[in-house]
Amino acid sequence: MSTPLDPRTRCVVTGGGPAGMMTGYLLARAGVDVMVLEKHADFFRDFRGDTIHPSTLDIMSELGLLDEFLKLPHQELREIRGIFNGHPVTMADFSKLPTRCKFIAFMPQWDFLNFLAKHGKRFPTFTLCLQHEVVDLLFENERVVGVRAKTPDGERQIYADLVIGADGRHAVTHARANLEVQEFGAPIDVLWMRLAKRAGDPPQSLGFFHHGKLLVLLDRGDYFQVGFVIPKGGLDEIKEHGLPALHSNIVALAPFLNNRIAELDDWEKIKLLTVQINRLKKWCRDGLLCIGDNAHAMSPAGGVGINLALQDAVATANLLAAKLKERPVTISELGEVQKRREWPTRVIQSMQVFIHRHAVTGRSSGNDDKLPLLPRLFVWFPFLRTLPARMIGLGPRPEHVNLPEAT
Ligand SMILES: Cc1cc2nc3c(=O)[nH]c(=O)nc-3n(C[C@H](O)[C@H](O)[C@H](O)COP(=O)(O)OP(=O)(O)OC[C@H]3O[C@@H](n4cnc5c(N)ncnc54)[C@H](O)[C@@H]3O)c2cc1C
Repeated sequence: MSTPLDPRTRCVVTGGGPAGMMTGYLLARAGVDVMVLEKHADFFRDFRGDTIHPSTLDIMSELGLLDEFLKLPHQELREIRGIFNGHPVTMADFSKLPTRCKFIAFMPQWDFLNFLAKHGKRFPTFTLCLQHEVVDLLFENERVVGVRAKTPDGERQIYADLVIGADGRHAVTHARANLEVQEFGAPIDVLWMRLAKRAGDPPQSLGFFHHGKLLVLLDRGDYFQVGFVIPKGGLDEIKEHGLPALHSNIVALAPFLNNRIAELDDWEKIKLLTVQINRLKKWCRDGLLCIGDNAHAMSPAGGVGINLALQDAVATANLLAAKLKERPVTISELGEVQKRREWPTRVIQSMQVFIHRHAVTGRSSGNDDKLPLLPRLFVWFPFLRTLPARMIGLGPRPEHVNLPEAT
């Protein structure tokens, strides 16, 4: 039961990740009262990816933020190179994309989220509440009417005409709303750790592939964020073999790391990220819409989950902002977001499932040093590199900001 002291707003967004922060920013920009609730106290954590895609950079340009955004420290990746059994191959070339920026910007995700937070605060209808962990939904007659959140000052009930669940893969919102999840299975997990960067390291290559195994290095200026793919549930077995065995598995893929691999001298320095691919059957119910990883958990394969989450945010704002400014939205209006975004999600997830079944399994599947057929095609037919560039850089059905700033 609500009390006069409980805050009330037009829209609550649960989760301040890429989907939640962009949705909050766009709705506030359009003049909608919006509160973004993030459970952590800040954005300074090792997120699962630092990629800002060409389509996202187009969105930043449409919002008039691009020049300022690109002043933040970042690296520009104009092509994606992989090392396959020791052979360097360019797999994606962004130079021909029909976008303003023909590169992926690598930037720590906390810088991106802080940037959105800073600009969101310019709008009087934007509120960001950190240390607000949503623990339950509030219902009235089967309709979602708000959330209950744990805060440093105790529990708060926040009432809203619409709750947008952007609280990621382990979302409270879809669980409490009993939305059915379809699991597609991912046979891998990822070990996530840091290693120093040194002068003279080879030019950036995102992935080192060797017969089903994959090591990813994200350049974070003075260190590499390292992702090492392992078979799902395989960490205990890896621990049994000990750190030296893990070191040599990593160095086998990227020998230049040999002179610093000893930095990983404690299992505490190695985090396990579990990989899931799933999708909600229905992304909404009365009073609630789920977007981003909450609606569709993405594997790291292709590094496209952040882009998809941001595209969901743009589509949500395009379809709902003008209506929300005037009144609560109906369930069929919420369903329009799923209609628009489900197809691109299906396409990308199908590709990820294919990659997991046939290319990156975390298990060794051979021992010769030949270049496999698929990367060989990129060497023989360079024009093929535009296909992954489109898929990664733009994604199917890229979204454009289609709503004016409130005056
Ligand atoms: C190992 C790994 C590596 C990846 N690498 C990449 C990559 O390089 N590039 C890429 O594009 N994608 C990558 N992805 C996928 C990408 O991380 C996700 O698709 C993307 O982060 C989804 O964004 P989101 O905003 O929907 O969810 P999230 O980024 O998960 O954000 C959810 C937010 O909600 C907050 N939250 C959660 N629960 C609550 C709660 N109860 N109350 C309040 N707040 C809450 C969280 O703290 C978080 O800030 C990777 C995924 C994995 C598993």
